[in-house]
This record gives sequence, C-alpha cells and structure tokens, in this order.
Amino acid sequence: MPSVQRVVAEVYMFDTCTHKCGYCWLAESGQVLDARQLDRFRDEGFVDKVAAFFNSRTSADRTWLVQFTGGEPLLAPNLDRLCGALIAAGNRVAFYTSLFIGRRHPSFRFLLDHPYPETDYVMASFHPEAEHDEEQHLEKFALLREAGHRVYLRYIGHPRRLDRLEHFERRCRELDLTFYPTTLLSNEYPTAYTDEERELLASFFVSDSQVIQLAGGIDTTTSRCWAGSRNIAVNLQTGLVTPCITVDRPIIGNLFDDSLQELPGPIRCPQAGISCVCDVHFQQDIVVGAEDSANFEGAAGGWVDRPARAETFRAATARLQQQGVAFYEGTDMGIGDVAASDRLVFTHDEVKERWRNRVAESARGRVSVELSYRRDSIVVAVSSAQRIANVEAFVNRAVGGGTDDDWVQLGTVQVDDTAATCRFPIDASAFAPGLHRAGVNVDLADGARVHWYEQEPRMIALDGTQLVTR
Ligand code: SF4
Ligand code: SF4
Repeated sequence: MPSVQRVVAEVYMFDTCTHKCGYCWLAESGQVLDARQLDRFRDEGFVDKVAAFFNSRTSADRTWLVQFTGGEPLLAPNLDRLCGALIAAGNRVAFYTSLFIGRRHPSFRFLLDHPYPETDYVMASFHPEAEHDEEQHLEKFALLREAGHRVYLRYIGHPRRLDRLEHFERRCRELDLTFYPTTLLSNEYPTAYTDEERELLASFFVSDSQVIQLAGGIDTTTSRCWAGSRNIAVNLQTGLVTPCITVDRPIIGNLFDDSLQELPGPIRCPQAGISCVCDVHFQQDIVVGAEDSANFEGAAGGWVDRPARAETFRAATARLQQQGVAFYEGTDMGIGDVAASDRLVFTHDEVKERWRNRVAESARGRVSVELSYRRDSIVVAVSSAQRIANVEAFVNRAVGGGTDDDWVQLGTVQVDDTAATCRFPIDASAFAPGLHRAGVNVDLADGARVHWYEQEPRMIALDGTQLVTR
C-alpha cells in the first residue's frame, strides 16, 4: 500500500493575543492588542476560502497537517468551521496556544470535541501570567488530556523561571502531560545563558529539537531541507505563502488567489546563512540531517521520563555534531526579536502605550494614505515604495473618536501594485449621527502591515442617510 505523504502548513493567523509576555515582540510592540486582525475570520466566506486552499490540494495519498499559530490562534472567530472543514477532508490540525481563553469559548469546546488524531497535538505554553491562577489554568490542560488530546506543556526557559522547572515537571507527571521546556529566543538569548543555566534547562529535554534550539539553531549556509515541498508557511493576514515560517522569500503562492507553486525538494535554504531555529522544522523532519520526529512523537503520548537526563547538553550537542549537524554561530536568531529580556510580563498600560506609538510611527514613511469621503463611501488612495497586497478600511462606530474595540471593518481590497485607489461603500445607517474616525490597514507584499488612522474624526454621519466631511 503506498504511504500517505503529509505536508506541514505553518499557518500564521494574526498578532492578537490574550497574553502580554515580557519576552515576546508582539507584546513589546503592543500588537497583541490589535483585535481588528480577528475581523476577517468573522466572514465565513474567508474561512471557507482558507479551508478550500488546503482541501483542494488533499488527496488519498497526500494530506495536510495544518498548524495554527499567532498570537493566540484560539481567538479566531469561526475556528470550528475552519478546522471542521479541514478535518472532514482528511487533514489534521495542531495548535500553538497558551490556552488563555475561557472553557466556554467556542474554540476550547471545539478542542474538547476533536482530540487526537483529528487534532494531531496541542502545543500549549504555560506563560508567566497563567501562574497567577495555576490550578485553574492547569485544569484546562487536564480537560484536554481527558478528552484524548496529545498535550505538550511548553515552558519558556527564561532565566528567571528556571527555578520552577522541577515544579512544572512534577505537575506534568501528575496530569500525564508532556513537559516540554524550550529556549528563550531573544536578541540576547540563548547566547546569554550561563553554562549552568544551559545544563539545567537541557536536563529537562525529551527531544533533540530542544537541544538544537538551545544551541542556537542550525547553520543554513550549506543545509538542505524540504521547505516548499513537505512544508509551507501561510500568512493569513497577507495570504502570502513561503517555504517555511522563518524565511520571507521566495513567495511561492498566495492563499487569497489560490495559487501555490511547490518547490522540488530538498532545497538549499533560500536565506542561507540565517539560523534555522523553529523547532517545527526538526520535529517534522523538514531539515535534512536534523530529523527528530521519532523523539517528538515518542514524547507526544503523555508523561515521559527524560531520556536526556543521562546526557549533558555538551554531550548532546557533540553527538549531533558527530551526526553532521552544524550549529549556527551568530547571535541574531531572527525570531522572538525582543529588545530586552529582563521582563516576564508587560503591564496592560505599557502594551497599550506601545501600541498607540506604533500605530502613529508605522504610518510615517512607508505608506502614504489619503482619504476622501463620498455620500455613500470612503475612497482610500494608497501608495508605497513596496508592493501593496491588501488595503482594509475601518470606521470607528463611536461618535467623537472611540477606542480600539470600536472599529467596524468596511471591507478588504486586494491590490498587488505599489499604488491604488480603493472605494469602500458605507451603510451610513450603521453609524450614529455625529463625527467618526476612519482607519486603514495596508498589508505590504513583504508581510509587513501598516496601520493608519485619523487622529481626529472627520466623517459626519447625518441621521443615518448620508456622509459628509468637515
Ligand atoms: S509569547 Fe505570549 S504574548 Fe507572545 S504570542 Fe505567545 S502567548 Fe502571546
Ligand atoms: S533551512 Fe530552515 S529556515 Fe531555511 S528554508 Fe529550510 S526550514 Fe526554512
């Protein structure tokens, strides 16, 4: 019987998240608060399009493992519809989550109803904010385990958290979870770990993927991998498809126009010289010579004793080097790109302030936006030195300004050019009479997103009948 080929899709959903981790760029920049990025998932047509992209490329001898990450992927509206369609076609899903959502949340209920093998595994991080109510949070892990899930409890090995490794290992043993501590990836780490910290963290490892990350990743100067053929990465904000989530070129397709040109594998790394540090690439046997699916799968069934305990980090890296693995020797990991690593959690006010600054800053320089108002629509003229992928327009429903929670999406226009004029019809009756602010998201083809909004409200809704501006 011919074997079924499984292709991994690393699907980045959005930046929005329920956490404010001190070691995360999305929190440091305030992007975790950008709830508008969830809006497109409220459109069932969009969600069906995402599922169809994979399902139309599914066959008896080829299926997908669609891994959802972010941000917090469980925040996605209609996640049950999206994953239900993927599963019905014979594909599997997996989640990189913090489980920091309520038990009654539709996504959590979906998980309870779709354990392994429909959900291949849940990589659930236990972050510092969850420690405020450890029991209540761990109950969710236990519920998933009882439902039949393969649950890894991921624990970021921040130097200030290493003293709790034994505690969380014991909790995982009690709850029959896979304890999966991983390396802090930042501008300073893993380089800044002391030898003692490194050995301590590594003594809790159950796979070589963890060792490779702690060693700084794989040197891609001469590496070969199956990215682009057995693995792709999809950004659901832009639709862009790349060979893996670490590289931003070449663009091998776009989910929004249902295009995909897979690469003949194995390939040289398209950005040779960077660090290949995303552990998925070893766990799923994507990088030649660093295949680790046996260890990763072996640990998936619940609690396992640590085989690496008998082997020091120094010995483990020497063994891998003997097998031909070349470790990255630079310091720029290109992932988890936070400026400072001394914080465990940011405050809500800090994150909010950074988000406001970022919105204002990002509009400067990269993209020019001009708005004009018609009686029944807003016309957005955008231009940029870079190619523009999408333009999305919003109006704040609150009279006089409003908060980040009050934006209403008017629509999205695909562009594929460096300049465009996009018209967004408005149902004026949806807005209370008075002054409203408009905003625009511009997705660039290189994956960057520019947020722009009016500082002062200009659009006047008149008795629900027409729009004028002042
Ligand atoms: S590291 Fe923390 S803040 Fe960043 S995406 Fe994950 S859970 Fe959210
Ligand atoms: S070597 Fe690593 S980073 Fe480079 S394309 Fe392959 S999987 Fe991606």
